[in-house]
Amino acid sequence: MSKTNQSGTHGAKHTLCRRIGFCLWGMPNCPTNSRVIKTRGGSDATSTAKAYPPGQHGPTKRRAKLSTYGEMLLEKQKLKTFYYLTDHQLLFMYRTAKHGLGNPGDKLLANLEMRLCSAVYRSGLAPTIFAARQIVSHRHVLVNGKVCDRASRRLKAGDVLTINEQHSPMIAQIAKSSTIELPPYLEKDANDKCKVTITREPLPEEIRVDVSIIKVIEYFNLH
Ligand SMILES: [Zn+2]
Repeated sequence: MSKTNQSGTHGAKHTLCRRIGFCLWGMPNCPTNSRVIKTRGGSDATSTAKAYPPGQHGPTKRRAKLSTYGEMLLEKQKLKTFYYLTDHQLLFMYRTAKHGLGNPGDKLLANLEMRLCSAVYRSGLAPTIFAARQIVSHRHVLVNGKVCDRASRRLKAGDVLTINEQHSPMIAQIAKSSTIELPPYLEKDANDKCKVTITREPLPEEIRVDVSIIKVIEYFNLH
């Protein structure tokens, strides 16, 4: 995970936040939160950080009114960015969700939430979606007692996520310090803060992502 910084890879992850004007993940260190920062002395200081839209004309650009297509595209970008996916991965997940019975948007959201990487993030086992993917791919996360390094693994009710404290003390320490509120379909063990159970499938209204899933589905239906 990169250090908090307004440039380099950390800032790049928040490029879309700057376009939409708020942080997709609600992270306090996002450039969109940096118009006014406190100095060490406690007084306000004007930030030089990029709290304006990205690009050469970002600082002076007026936010253009989007076409319907532009809106669909933006929602697709937001969904992809929030869950830290490639276009290819999201397209594949859309095709899976479109198949068979049920509302494709609801199924897509549930499938996104039930990815191993998303559950690690939502449960607070990692502080960000980026950190979640990293600790999974670096083999710090166990699913039902076995290491799983595949971030895309589709979890199901009854699956148990753990971090082995002896093998991964630093990762376990970060997980234990988390204070985030878990969604109702995830349950943290009362005695072991590094142990999370998937209690059931999430309901669409329980999924906390600021994206219009209908527009995402419309976007893919056009392609
Ligand atoms: Zn952000």
